[in-house]
Amino acid sequence: MEASVYLESPMQPPGYPANEAERLAALASAQILDTPEDEAFNDLIRIAAAICRVPMAMVSLVDAERQWLKARIGIGVEETTRDESFCAHAILEPDRTMIVEDALEDPRFRANLFVQGAAGIRFYAGAPLLDRQGLPLGSFCVMDHAPRRLEPEQLRALEALSRQASNLIELRRLSIELRHHLVEREWYEQQLREQNADLAEMTRTDPLTGLHNRRAFSQALEEVAATGQRYAVAVCDIDEFKTINDLHGHAEGDRVLREVADVLRAQHAARGRLARYGGEEFVLLFPGIGTDEAVLQCEYLRQAIAGLPTGVPVTVSIGVAAGGPGIRPEQALERADEALYAAKRGGRNRVVASGA
Ligand code: GH3
Ligand code: MG
Ligand code: MG
Repeated sequence: MEASVYLESPMQPPGYPANEAERLAALASAQILDTPEDEAFNDLIRIAAAICRVPMAMVSLVDAERQWLKARIGIGVEETTRDESFCAHAILEPDRTMIVEDALEDPRFRANLFVQGAAGIRFYAGAPLLDRQGLPLGSFCVMDHAPRRLEPEQLRALEALSRQASNLIELRRLSIELRHHLVEREWYEQQLREQNADLAEMTRTDPLTGLHNRRAFSQALEEVAATGQRYAVAVCDIDEFKTINDLHGHAEGDRVLREVADVLRAQHAARGRLARYGGEEFVLLFPGIGTDEAVLQCEYLRQAIAGLPTGVPVTVSIGVAAGGPGIRPEQALERADEALYAAKRGGRNRVVASGA
């Protein structure tokens, strides 16, 4: 009865392990299929072939529909169908080495292409390659053209080498995982750095005008003062701004603030530092120049603002003071503020230098 079954189906294709899906996922995670030849695997099968005294050895990985050979000695092809694969049978019992002493005597293999064909395989011994969870990924095997058996120490060596090959695959998977984690970590760190930079910039920026705020200005002022060079500071205050708010509304007041800020930015940004100091008050820093030149530049600013086509008349008063060695930065700012009040008292829409 059995014999007639073989006649009707001359080759017995291997079945699938119960955990085939998990097994394939584990194999995929090793990312080893279709990778270049690797001397580490070649060395292991060289040793196996020498110890077992066989002409053929290979590291076979059993993929969904094929077996792919990571390493091979005495075998001409890099892959075969899964149906023709001895190793696909070997992985069905992952805990033991599959030994076929004579393929012609084994109903599973006697009609196999590699037994009947030019490859002429008669003997096969394959120790399953396992991942760290015990899932069989393939088989580490030796083959011969003649029927034979393995000595117990040859079998132990084959199994030991199979474990080494499994370790290599696991190492490979770990290094890929590690690289992945590193890339991911780098990405997160980069995000954090960017967020921190954004946050830092936010703490230095006035949200309404986009200009630097008082804190950023104080820092810039300290930095310029620390160089020991002379400089000038100016405080620029919008005239009768309360009236603009009262007559046209707070939103219109905000728009005027932004327009004034835009003029200051366009005219001054390249030359020094600029900030919204608070309310309708701006401060400017002129590194390396004295009061006279700063007054001249502030005069241009005043005129540019007075000429703004904002719809509502907008003017500014500006107080200017000198800074440098012997003058504390706060002192310079206080003097500029005093000059500003002098400009207000003097009728507004003007630039006044401290001590003038
Ligand atoms: P002076 O010419 O003396 O400077 O008169 P002023 O009206 O400009 O000065 P005052 O200090 O009396 O009024 C400043 C006004 O600026 C009062 C405040 O409501 C308004 N203000 C401050 N910050 C903002 C803001 O962010 N938006 C708007 N729309 N108004 C603001
Ligand atoms: Mg004002
Ligand atoms: Mg003011």
